[in-house]
Amino acid sequence: MAKHTVFDPERDDPFILSRTAIDEFLSCQKCFYFKRRLGLKPPRLIPLTLAIATDAILKNEFDEVRQKGGQSHYVWETHDLNVHTFSHPDMEDWRNNFRGIRYLHEPTNQEITGAIDDVWERLDTGQLHIVDYKSTSKKDDPDIESGWGFGYKRQMEVYQWLFRKNGFDIHETGYFLYINGRKDTAFYDEETGGGTVGRMLFRTTLIPYDGDTGWVDDIIYQCKDTLRSNEIPEGSEGCDSCRYFRERSEIE
Ligand code: SF4
Repeated sequence: MAKHTVFDPERDDPFILSRTAIDEFLSCQKCFYFKRRLGLKPPRLIPLTLAIATDAILKNEFDEVRQKGGQSHYVWETHDLNVHTFSHPDMEDWRNNFRGIRYLHEPTNQEITGAIDDVWERLDTGQLHIVDYKSTSKKDDPDIESGWGFGYKRQMEVYQWLFRKNGFDIHETGYFLYINGRKDTAFYDEETGGGTVGRMLFRTTLIPYDGDTGWVDDIIYQCKDTLRSNEIPEGSEGCDSCRYFRERSEIE
């Protein structure tokens, strides 16, 4: 039987509730319901191929450190962190968007999933830090106190919750390793090999964040209640997309 990602009240196998679905629920219950209960696919977004590429480069970077024993990296030295890369046989599954780390929430019969970027282990206590890579290109140093930052915090907290539910000792501090593309540097130079290969430089910022996972259980129950209901929930106030659809249907 195919995985249960559009909720069907007739099925009794676990419903897959991804970290992304939880975030959709928190952003707008109506959109969550359209997609996860009614199976309506939202318009396709342009894939963030550059962000995917920078994620891959950072994963490779830290995998190389892991293979060498995981003891030292510029980022840890710069920020005075006493950590190394955590090794685990399931690391590749945890990072895979189609698998991720999973936990069956039995009271609601939902399997919660999330795909992480990396895990660092403290050398003093053995506790684990969840690590997420982010990329941007802006003049000022990035932060997580505005805009997408709220979603990033929730993302981190769901990962922390998932790891704890799987029995890992997770430190409350997670890290966002932000890379910020500079627009003020040369692109082609002799080192890049001339006119066929260019180079973008990134400033990097490590942002620690103390997560609070206290809300996660409650939201998992609320997601299930919403999915079970036959009523379409209200949309988010002030959503630009809903305004567009409403004004368009008024014209039509
Ligand atoms: S309010 Fe926005 S997010 Fe919610 S249903 Fe409408 S379009 Fe979707």
